[in-house]
Amino acid sequence: MITEVLTANQLKKEAPVFGQLSFDDHEQVVFCFDKDTGLKAIIGVHNTILGPALGGTRMYDYKTEWDALNDVLRLSRGMTYKSAITGLNLGGGKAVIMGDPKKIKTPDLMRRFGEFVHTLGGKYYTAEDVGMETSDMDTVREVTPYVTGISEAKGGAGNPSPVTAYGVYMGMKASAKFAFGKDDLTGKKILVQGIGHVGEELVRLTAEEGAKVIISDINEERLNEVSLKYGVEIYRGQDLYAEAADIYAPCALGATVNDDTINKLQVKVIAGAANNQLANEHIHGPLLQQKGIIYAPDFLINAGGIINVFAEIEKYGRDQIITKTENIYNTTLDILTKAEAMGITTNEAAVRIADDRIAQRKKEKLS
Ligand code: NAD
Repeated sequence: MITEVLTANQLKKEAPVFGQLSFDDHEQVVFCFDKDTGLKAIIGVHNTILGPALGGTRMYDYKTEWDALNDVLRLSRGMTYKSAITGLNLGGGKAVIMGDPKKIKTPDLMRRFGEFVHTLGGKYYTAEDVGMETSDMDTVREVTPYVTGISEAKGGAGNPSPVTAYGVYMGMKASAKFAFGKDDLTGKKILVQGIGHVGEELVRLTAEEGAKVIISDINEERLNEVSLKYGVEIYRGQDLYAEAADIYAPCALGATVNDDTINKLQVKVIAGAANNQLANEHIHGPLLQQKGIIYAPDFLINAGGIINVFAEIEKYGRDQIITKTENIYNTTLDILTKAEAMGITTNEAAVRIADDRIAQRKKEKLS
């Protein structure tokens, strides 16, 4: 799996789609445009060997279309690995809608997007991601059944974010057990970067356990609100990446472990919700390993959300959602232990397990 972040110029020099490093064997990429609503979206279907591709829709004001394309490809591939390692019979897919959700998101635009999802006939199921709300999925549901993350009132499993946060918390505790000898987070200094839907719930869980939580966000209003609500400190320093702490929890956007930040990091564990935290897993994974920083693979520990939305397709209930999410603790501990024993990065250990499961299913299908 390749997770290079390429600049627009680099991308242009190469073959723009199949030649992109992040294209990485995608089965299908769909470009969706609607002049009337201003919709510009891309749906990436990475792999459907284990089942239909499921992954959220991100709405974001990308600087360029290349950035949007690169993001959707990286995210959809990550979903393939996430579902595979979590033991779900789902493939990997994702969608991005270009534009600021506060400015251009309308019910008409969401319905039009849903119509495009519908054209894939169930090969891709959508859900929420950054810039989306449960109510948006309800709107999409008006035009297609191929959507999850809809409200409980409309028969869905509700907002997946609290379950995602619970899974991240499980992965964080397992990483703490591995790094510090016990999974108790009491007194541990935890930097939570991004206190949105997932980050806030992670703050609640860790603060309630007695951790010394420090929050950071670009939204000052949220910072004050969450700080007051849970009695946690706001980060007021110059550079969060250089702050010494026990645990860094990236819960904003991806690629925060990169060439600029990696040498500054002074934490023992990285465990957070953001997708694709390593800008380049082949470079930054080994560098973290060399620095002795325990990295809990993002696609493993942030799988609570997909477990929650998959319940809508498989019709399993709350108890199973929680049991499957709690199992993230065991899987994380297992992968950290295996990686150490094999002398490989934790990311590589997780990818190998996911790859094996996909290869096995492919073999079964062919036989
Ligand atoms: P969100 O949009 O609700 O929250 C993101 C927060 O990050 C916002 O408060 C935003 O202001 C803040 N932020 C943005 N840029 C920042 C920066 N540079 N520094 C600090 N803060 C910044 O999103 P979410 O649903 O909480 O998801 C957070 C991350 O977890 C995303 O990467 C998402 O893809 C991933 N994720 C979410 C789910 C889920 O169930 N919601 C599941 C799996 C993965």
